[in-house]
Parts: sequence; C-alpha cells; structure tokens
Amino acid sequence: MADSILAQFAAAILGGTIKIIDLSQPLEAATPIIQLPPEFAPSWPFRLEEISHYDSRGPAWYWNNFACGEHTGTHFDAPVHWVTGKDYPNNTTDTIPVAKFIAPANVIDCSAEVAKDADFLLTPDHVVAWEKGHGRIAAGSWVLMRTDWSKRKGAEAFHNMREDGSHVPGPHPTLVPFLAKERDVIGWGSEGVGTDAGQAYRFDPPFPCHTGMHGSNKFGLASLINLDLLPPKGALLITPPLKIVSGSGSPCRVLALVG
Ligand code: MN
Repeated sequence: MADSILAQFAAAILGGTIKIIDLSQPLEAATPIIQLPPEFAPSWPFRLEEISHYDSRGPAWYWNNFACGEHTGTHFDAPVHWVTGKDYPNNTTDTIPVAKFIAPANVIDCSAEVAKDADFLLTPDHVVAWEKGHGRIAAGSWVLMRTDWSKRKGAEAFHNMREDGSHVPGPHPTLVPFLAKERDVIGWGSEGVGTDAGQAYRFDPPFPCHTGMHGSNKFGLASLINLDLLPPKGALLITPPLKIVSGSGSPCRVLALVG
C-alpha cells in the first residue's frame, strides 16, 4: 500500500527533497520598525531583557522577557489592522482560520527594476506579463514582491528616508484591487518594513495595499528575506502569527517549503 501523502511529505523533508527556507529577519533591538511622522503614536522596537542565565536569579535556567509592537520585523498583517478590514468576521490573529496560514506563493522578481529605481511600483501590466511566463496567479495564493531590498545593510539604507519620507518599492495603487478582486489572492508580501511603498502615504488612496488588501479581507507579510531563494512558483508558505487575542498582526517565523 502506498504511503499516505503526509508520510511522503515527511520523508521528503527528512530526505531533503523538500527544502525549508527561512523568510524571517532576526529579531533584535536593531530590527528595523516602521517610522511614522511624529504626530502618530510609535510602535515599540524589539527589546530583550534577561530574567536569569544559570545564575542566582535562576540557577538552572536561562530565559528572557521581550517586548515589541505587533508589526515588528518579519510579521503578519491581519485584516483588522486597517480600518477598511475592521468589520470582517474572524479578522484578528486569534480568529483567522488556521488553514489560511499555509498557502502557495508567487514570487515576482522586481530586483532589476528596483536596482535602478528605489520607488519602483509593480503594476497590473507587469503582473500580466509575468503570468504569461509562469501561469495565472491562483486564488488563495500569496504574491511576494522580490526586490532584494532585504539585502540592504543597516536601518538607514533599509528605510531610505529623505525629506519627503521613505523611498522603498511596493505595489502600484492599481495593482491591489487587481490582485484582491480579479485574482482573489490570500495576501501580499514585501521585503520592506511594511507592505506598502515608502511614498504610499501620498498615493490615491493612501497606503493602497493596507487599504485594499485588508479591505478585501486579505493578509500582509512584511520584512521578508530570502525571496531570491524561491522559485517564481511552487513554494508553499507557512505563516502563522502568534495567537494574540484581538491582535492586528504579529512577528512571524515565515517558512517556505520548496520542492
Ligand atoms: Mn504591518
């Protein structure tokens, strides 16, 4: 009798036929977090405080307290994060059906365009051209924008701030309704500190990815790394956020299975 699908899957992981790629940034005090204008309340950076380290505070054990905003480092955005997604049922980190935390990924390589233009925006035309080579984006799959932005060293280069704000690539305002409505994706993933482009505060609508994706009950993934190690199609993403009650998002150890 043939092995069950799960037994074959376990054997493929054990044997290395399926590789597991970590799409997550390390979490530490230096982990970049979103920079908002001073009129808005800031998110806490990641902070680690030692409780004991095999010492008088705990002779046989090492452990820490940590603190951070929900949207710190590589993280998951739930629909309730944005006002447009606030009324959907099961729109928080503790109530989203768990089957939605495993989904296939489409990885669109924009690294060449972004190397020339930090403000590059991915458009529907670009995506349709990508689909001609890789097939149509399936309902319930992620679209990840590979920019190689995560290879930038240091917070200054990562935020790429100028007087008029951050200059980081992202989705064009017209792409978000296209993906949410015409492709029915599960969500959008970026290498930048958030899912929207750096200049998105002045787009129409402002922050179109947050507005449109969460307004369509879709998810977001931000601060992804290692997208250059993924194929354009075929990777399976595992993205469970922490089960924070009424949470708007959470740091997430995003893994990609590649066969
Ligand atoms: Mn976020």
